[in-house]
Amino acid sequence: MSRFEKIFGTIPSVEAAAPGRVNLIGEHTDYNGGFVLPMPIPRTCRVQLRIRGDDRVRVSSANQGGDMREYRLGSEKPLGDWLDYIQGCTALLSRQGQSLTGFDAFIASDVPLGGGLSSSAALDVALLRALRAAFRLPLSDLDLARLGQRIENEFVGARVGIMDPLVASLGRPGFALFVDTRELTWRQIPIPEQAEFVILDSGVRHRHSAGDYNTRRSECEQACRDLGVSQLRELGREDLSRIESLPDPLRRRARHVVTENDRVLQAVSALEAGDLHRLGRLFDESHASQRDDYEVSVPEIETLIALAHDEPGVIGRRLTGGGFGGSIVLLTIAGRGQELGQRIAEAYSRRAKGVSLPARTQITPLVVGRSA
Ligand code: ADP
Ligand code: MG
Repeated sequence: MSRFEKIFGTIPSVEAAAPGRVNLIGEHTDYNGGFVLPMPIPRTCRVQLRIRGDDRVRVSSANQGGDMREYRLGSEKPLGDWLDYIQGCTALLSRQGQSLTGFDAFIASDVPLGGGLSSSAALDVALLRALRAAFRLPLSDLDLARLGQRIENEFVGARVGIMDPLVASLGRPGFALFVDTRELTWRQIPIPEQAEFVILDSGVRHRHSAGDYNTRRSECEQACRDLGVSQLRELGREDLSRIESLPDPLRRRARHVVTENDRVLQAVSALEAGDLHRLGRLFDESHASQRDDYEVSVPEIETLIALAHDEPGVIGRRLTGGGFGGSIVLLTIAGRGQELGQRIAEAYSRRAKGVSLPARTQITPLVVGRSA
């Protein structure tokens, strides 16, 4: 008997899934109207669902102990926990005039929660896909991404940009999704055959609804007011001298966003030219900017980055995701990622014994490339 059957006493009628993602470059640029370059990873959130005849929503997540939670459609209100993602979804769909009834849903994800690989957008999009199928909702993949962002902004209280739900909804395995978040246009960029990316999870967990992420966002808004622009996207490297006149830390926050946008554009051309060394340099510059200017790194991430610098086969390395913990992504030659990643993971685990690293001492590298 499946877990769904055990919990709900019936079988699901719909199943849907959506992937997590690794952001190759372009961090904290999406809510500034800038550029991002994420790609989906072979880790997914899966949702099984069955429509009910009444207005009760019952939901259980294997990642949250499996207990059944329940509410009635129309009575959604934020509670400050994971049920907000589900409540936000039904509240927003109802507000848009989509007709729903209650349902039973079971969620199971192998995207690490709070690991910088966007478990939340995988959940948003997987649930929206399941509801679209079950209720035959006339929603496009772009609609799902926009709804995913609104669930987090309006219901969960995480002021995230469009990147994560967009790549969860539109991403294709083996391709990076180059997105202009102001114009809301995108292009699928094939990963060169000779490249491979390795993701290593520090084990340090963040919650995007919990403060620091939103603080960075407010700092960007303040920098915009001081500079007289509506979005930092409007500025380029030629404006860096103006940015220098801002008070600290706004100066560094704005400098990160402006230089990072430029690095995304350069990374796209490096990928298209198959120039891995140029891409690697951009990774390293992006990491330094996140660490020094945007201040979203933490000591455990710096340990991983330092270990990755000790490996000659690593071409570039950077913190990926919103930061304050989470994962790093390395660039290497195809076929070498698993072995390199394993060595760095082992060295990191050994350090964890002496230094105050998180309990999670055994990390498994995740390798993605053209064929993964
Ligand atoms: P990230 O998206 O980088 O993993 P977030 O802080 O944005 O980190 O989202 C993590 C939160 O999303 C979790 O704390 C939890 O509330 C929710 N979440 C993600 N996946 C699941 C899941 N499978 N089941 C229940 N809640 C989930
Ligand atoms: Mg998230």
